[in-house]
Amino acid sequence: MNTLKNYIDGVWTESVSKQTIDVLNPANQEVLATVPFGKDTAQDMQNAIEKAHQAYLEWKEVPTMKRVQPLFKLKTLLEDHSEEIAKLITKECGKTYAESLGELQRAIENVEVACGTYVMAQSEFSENIANGIDEFMIRQPLGVCGCITPFNFPGMIPFWFLPYAIATGNAFVIKPSEKVPMTMQYVFELIDEKLDLPKGLLSLVHGGKDAVDAMLQHPKVKAISFVGSTNVAKYIYSEGTKYGKRVQAQGGAKNPVVIMPDADVDMTTQIIIDSVYGCAGQRCLAASVIIPTGDNKRQFTEALVEAAKSRNVGYGLESGVEMGPVITPESKQRIEGLIQKGKDEGGNLLLDGRNAKISGYEKGNFVAPTILEGVPLQGEIINTEIFGPVMSLVNFNELDQTIDFINQGRYGNMACIFTRDGLAARKFRSEVMAGNVGVNIGVAAPVAQFPFSGWKESFFGDLHGQGRHAIEFFTQTKVVIERWPKNWSRKF
Ligand code: NAD
Repeated sequence: MNTLKNYIDGVWTESVSKQTIDVLNPANQEVLATVPFGKDTAQDMQNAIEKAHQAYLEWKEVPTMKRVQPLFKLKTLLEDHSEEIAKLITKECGKTYAESLGELQRAIENVEVACGTYVMAQSEFSENIANGIDEFMIRQPLGVCGCITPFNFPGMIPFWFLPYAIATGNAFVIKPSEKVPMTMQYVFELIDEKLDLPKGLLSLVHGGKDAVDAMLQHPKVKAISFVGSTNVAKYIYSEGTKYGKRVQAQGGAKNPVVIMPDADVDMTTQIIIDSVYGCAGQRCLAASVIIPTGDNKRQFTEALVEAAKSRNVGYGLESGVEMGPVITPESKQRIEGLIQKGKDEGGNLLLDGRNAKISGYEKGNFVAPTILEGVPLQGEIINTEIFGPVMSLVNFNELDQTIDFINQGRYGNMACIFTRDGLAARKFRSEVMAGNVGVNIGVAAPVAQFPFSGWKESFFGDLHGQGRHAIEFFTQTKVVIERWPKNWSRKF
């Protein structure tokens, strides 16, 4: 069995840890590889950080225009190998091949935006703020920047950070999710073979909490980017800041989508179904609480149930499949337990996706589309991130009540509204407490030049991932005030 190696100081290196865990294909439990795990991975992380720091000391002196050149090559590399990368994503993560290609496209867009770092990182200059005195601000890199990523977008999320971090002059160490480590392993193989980067500038270290803790505690790590569940995000934020690091930590979500009575039934239904069941509901921007508001509730509910029923569930590498399995057997068990809980709380199961059996993939972690109606607003189902293909339906008569309900929730990753009424949409986007808002959009995922703007318990920190926020996150500002007295001047 292939045990994955770490990429440290530009060399593929065996982990010092003898402990490993299996990487499984969620559609059939095939063991794809084993990945280093356990307390000794802390040593791997420390080694990588020391080498990364050496690389940073040289890299920070390289002009930005030169630092972005490898990114142009990286874009081409990702494009040229998109088929292999997307297949790997589907194999270890379970989503469909089309979804894997889609996530890779988002990764590439971030590389493209980061290619413009020499423009985005340009700074400000004020001449003559007082007699003979000029003041200006420059941006300088931080040092070694660490990154910890979740299982659900193994090919995209690292690129919310990686290209910006190195373009601004930092070294970058990533610890991918131990559930899906192969995608980044492959990308790093490409980087190793094709990009001419200084040794140690980009490092890959496998593991779980032990490797993360070593990153959090290492004094040479100056910034940490995290994406994952809210409890871990809170931990990363509090520990990272305790050790004096800059931290951006993106957490979980529970995303509401409002349907106003005047919304277009066909378009709204199609888009919402894609949002709820895309990636088997394992997206931080998956719609999960659907709120028909005002009249027309029955019509929308019936349309949603019909569309959900026809979703084709199966192995993501087979053609025609629209939804793959969830990540692990434990995840399937947890999701099915929550569906039961919804029923026990008084919900009406309009569609029950438990015990889904897919011919040829009997061991897969499949949960079919599920719809619960009438669950109590204070209950567990409405307030828990299920992270599976489960839609909860809730109704209100007035938009004001709907917005109040949404704003009481603990998360603030995304909120969407479907309507033809500009005034309703305007009120919603202005009053709703969520950082990514969609109007007649089902997955309000900001493109690379905009920040990925989670609010409340969906984000801990100040500067978000992507675009200009990333440039600011990965640089520290220095303000210089200069005096050149005229009476020092030789006569020219
Ligand atoms: P997770 O929190 O279990 O793991 C994320 C990362 O943290 C992994 O690399 C893991 O090894 C590490 N980790 C796990 N437990 C840890 C601990 N106790 N201490 C230190 N490190 C630890 O998340 P997941 O299950 O991989 O991903 C799903 C979650 O990620 C969902 O909650 C989803 O909403 C969230 N997510 C959020 C966004 C966003 O942009 N806000 C995007 C994608 C996913």
